[in-house]
Order: sequence, then C-alpha cells, then structure tokens
Amino acid sequence: MSLNEKYEKISAAYLQDIKEAGTLQDVEEVRVKYIGRSGEVNKIFKELGILSPEERPAWGKKLNILKSDITKSVEDKKEQFSQKDEKEDIFDPTMPGNYSRFPSIHPVTGILREIKDIFSSLGFGVAYGPEIESSYHNFTALNIPEDHVAREMHDTFYLNQEDKLLRTHTSPVQVRVMENNDPPYNIIVPGKCYRRDTIDASHSPVFHQVEGLMVDKNINFADLKGVLAEFAKLFFKGSDVKTRFRPSYFPFTEPSAEMDISCRICQGKGCSSCSQKGWLEILGAGMVDPEVFKHCNVDTEKWQGFAFGMGVERLAMLKYGISDMRFFYLNDIRFLEQF
Ligand SMILES: [Zn+2]
Repeated sequence: MSLNEKYEKISAAYLQDIKEAGTLQDVEEVRVKYIGRSGEVNKIFKELGILSPEERPAWGKKLNILKSDITKSVEDKKEQFSQKDEKEDIFDPTMPGNYSRFPSIHPVTGILREIKDIFSSLGFGVAYGPEIESSYHNFTALNIPEDHVAREMHDTFYLNQEDKLLRTHTSPVQVRVMENNDPPYNIIVPGKCYRRDTIDASHSPVFHQVEGLMVDKNINFADLKGVLAEFAKLFFKGSDVKTRFRPSYFPFTEPSAEMDISCRICQGKGCSSCSQKGWLEILGAGMVDPEVFKHCNVDTEKWQGFAFGMGVERLAMLKYGISDMRFFYLNDIRFLEQF
C-alpha cells in the first residue's frame, strides 16, 4: 500500500469510527488508535524516510493537518457526551423522592426530660446514684429492716456479690445525698430500677422512676401538695387538671399518700381507662419518716420535708394514651417514630 493509499484509508476510517463511538471510552479508544504514540498517523510519519528530502515537508504538513482534524473530531465527540451528562443531572420533579426518617427521641427519654425541666423550673436540682446498690441503702436506711414485711413488696434481683442488689427504686439516692451533704435538700433523682416482675401490659423487670426530696426548716404537707399539684398541671398541660391525695403506706414516709389526677379521657365521670373511678393514680409521696433522717444523721428537730416517687413509663402511658408498657421496649420503629 502506498503512502497515499494509507493516508486515504485513515482519513475515511477515523470519521466512521468516531461516528460509531457510543461511549466516552469508545472515543478515547479511537484517539489512541489514530493519534496515540503508536497510532496510525505516527506509523505513516515513520515511513516518510523513504521519501526524497524535497517531498518530505509537504507530507509532514499533510499529516499534521490530519492529526489536528482527528484531534478536533475526538474533542467534539467528547463534548457531546459531557453535555448529555449535564442534561441527565437536571432535577426531575416527576421522579419518586428519597424517603428518609427523621430521628426522634424515645418517649421514655422525652418524658424524663420533661419531668426534669418542670422540676428545675420549681427550683429542684438533679442527683444520680448507682444502679447496683447495697441492701443498706436500698432497704435498711429507708426504714425497711431485714425480715420486715415491706421487703416482700419489692421482688429484688440479688447479686452474687455479698450484700449487693439491683436497686428496686430510686429512693436509695435520697439516702446517699443526705449522707454526703448538709440540708436543705431540693432534688429529683431520675433513673432505672429493677424488679423481678413478669412482663405484662403494666410491668417490666426494668423501668424508670423519678424520686424527689425536699427538706428544709419549715416544710410541711401543704408544700408537698402544692409542689405535686403544680407538677401535675405543668406536666398534663392544663389548669383544669384536678388532683387528690389518698392515704397510703410507704415505710420511708409518714404520713404517706398517693396522688391521683382526674381522668383526662372522661374528665372525672368514669370510663374504662380509669376503671370507672374518674381518677388515675400517678405517684406516691409523704413526709420523710424520722427513722430515715436518723440513718442519714439529719437533725429531725431542725429539718423536715417530703419525698415522692413516680413511674416514668406510667406517666408516658397516661400522657400519650399508650395501653401497653411493652411498646416502650420492643424497638418497633412504627411505634417510636410517633414521638
Ligand atoms: Zn376516665
């Protein structure tokens, strides 16, 4: 094949190849095939040695023009592909959207935060204590001596370690605060508690409580009623929330009471949620028993006060109308993302 024939063949072939290139990769292959280091055009350059010195410059010029024509065709074709890519990036409102879940706070955590906010607005600080307790702090110091029938009220997880158990209530933190600090006290204690309960709609072996303690020089039962009634109004968001106190028994308070709120569903008339009573129990409270003060070396002549405890899950169930406590622990996204 003469130089001329080769030249004609390449000139026709590269145009056809570029036309057929369907991807950027194909175009790049065309570039390498014709004008790469060992491409067709360079092969002809190498053959120019057979020509006479007079003929060579004209051929050199001719081949350089061919090379720049191929370069231009390759670049034009690449440009077409990049324009196509840009078009594909254009936002298409008819495409289905990407669904993303917005994270939410677990209802128990949310209620705990709300309770903390309310009590801090009433001047209470927050105290924490260990979940593995001594039986002294969990029972004895709270006026529940060994063999006392009140210990039977708490189905306790005892640990193999001597004298250690999983706290059955948050009340031992009261004792720890009083042991380590001088009065007055004005604290709430949020945290987990453990009891050997079977799991059902209103029981779980792990649950949350918020304990409260207010001790000062002139604290009486009216303060207890005032603080807790105010809490109920703020928590259930309504000045129409009625409260009532019923006598009760706790070993660590005397006198003791349980506080009910008027049923939110029937407004006190009686319905299935409140077992037709019109009232719902939300917490236990009472004046701190002098025996407890004695264990903590607090002078009962000088100081007095009240304590209370509430179940966080129960409050969450009442507030959100949840019928079964197990929903809190099942980690079912459909339940949790409602909060
Ligand atoms: Zn009711």
